[in-house]
Amino acid sequence: MERTISSNRLVHLDLKGAPAKVSYYEKLFPMLKKMGATGLLVEWEDTFPYGDEVADIGSSGPANHDLYSKEDARLLLELAKQNDLVVIPLVQTFGHLEFVLKHKAFQNLREVENYPSSMCPTNPNSLTLVKAMIKQIVEFHSDLSFLHIGADEVWHMALCERCQAQVVLEKPEDRKSRLFLNHVLAVAKFIQSMYPSLGIIIWDDMLRSISPEILMEYDLGKYVEPMVWHYRSEDNFVLPPDIWAKYSKIFPNFWVASAFKGATGSSRMLPIPAYHIGNHLAWLKVIKEEAGKFENFRGVALTGWSRYDHFATLCEMLPVAIPCLALCLQTWISGTFSLEIHDNISKDLGFSTPLLLNPYPRPQLLTQGKLDFPGWEIMVGVEWFTNLQEKIRSVVDGDQVETWFNEWQIKNSYTNPMQIESLLASFSSILTELASVEVYLRRHMASVFHMSTLNEWLGTWIEPRRKKLVQLEHDAQLQMRIGGRVDGGDFPFSAQDVQMEPQA
Ligand SMILES: [Zn+2]
Repeated sequence: MERTISSNRLVHLDLKGAPAKVSYYEKLFPMLKKMGATGLLVEWEDTFPYGDEVADIGSSGPANHDLYSKEDARLLLELAKQNDLVVIPLVQTFGHLEFVLKHKAFQNLREVENYPSSMCPTNPNSLTLVKAMIKQIVEFHSDLSFLHIGADEVWHMALCERCQAQVVLEKPEDRKSRLFLNHVLAVAKFIQSMYPSLGIIIWDDMLRSISPEILMEYDLGKYVEPMVWHYRSEDNFVLPPDIWAKYSKIFPNFWVASAFKGATGSSRMLPIPAYHIGNHLAWLKVIKEEAGKFENFRGVALTGWSRYDHFATLCEMLPVAIPCLALCLQTWISGTFSLEIHDNISKDLGFSTPLLLNPYPRPQLLTQGKLDFPGWEIMVGVEWFTNLQEKIRSVVDGDQVETWFNEWQIKNSYTNPMQIESLLASFSSILTELASVEVYLRRHMASVFHMSTLNEWLGTWIEPRRKKLVQLEHDAQLQMRIGGRVDGGDFPFSAQDVQMEPQA
């Protein structure tokens, strides 16, 4: 990769959620190249086959045994190379280390005993751990030009006794800044001493509140390049007003990060292209106005978050967001968004009508056409499920249930069969449809994802709904048998007396 060109267009692979099988990348990477991507920002997190003293934090550990083997990981890199996609690995070195700090062996490195997010920077074992991770990552990848060391959202700092003792002489407003920079610099200096030709990238958010004087004092621009991230759409795209003047004094080079998924809701299933296109348009405007202040604008990373953090549920899965990614990349390359781009991308991907720029509210017609991108079946399955989810909500939380089949009524067998009969039909038909969606998604997800992803997705979205509906169906059948008679007097029935066949 050339270090000076501004045309890097990296697609972020956030492997901490729903990492695709390597066979999926065989089909995806040629398509990414065709769509105009020049590289990948690979956030391995716990899917990397770490070894030795850190083996347990990655896919060699018992918790992630169905994720990438060493051969898989090598093949992923090989496929990227074959498609001229440069790879920049991202390894967290400060905050968002949940995947490390959740392990008992590393629990003592937490800044706050009970929270697994941030590492304590003054514990000498912290740097030892980070060095081991970096060494394994760098040595596994060949021809690296850049390494991204994360360092965003370090929520807990200067809270442990050791850190507090270390910063006690600083002005209170400087304490966190210095703790942060000391650690980042220690990591960067280690990388520079080991791999002098490697460029180092960090997320910029922690720098936003640090004064230019302190950044200057640490000479941070000599060590790292900031990747300025902002994922909101044009309407509320707001970065600190002084950010560009400040960064351009410190850093000769900078990157930006936009988003094509995983930025509009922590449990979102379908991306909202209009929003993400708006994010790219806003960034284009910023680049036009501000890039001249720097020596080099390196390029953009289009982030595609799979979870909001390690312990968060899955948001949009990669195959579901390919159309949105294509629109965002084309917007970026063209410097604008137009009807023509919308039509062309839709046609290229096989949509029979222009793809929806906002798939919400649900339900909507399922996508039609001869779809032609890897994993499109999963997108259609998720569209189907989100339609059904709305139907379930409207029945389970609907007026009819509230009015004629609520918990009190079921408990007291105070129900009218005329109402229950129609509800029973709804419950049964939804259960049948839910089973069909599950069969469809199970089949298509199995060809793209590992079992752990299937189990998580279906266990999160399908299973609880089925359980709830099976219970409702069971209660409704019981109430039908009771047949609108109430307890008391010589009435022989109560719900407890009416034995039902066990549910299949
Ligand atoms: Zn500490």
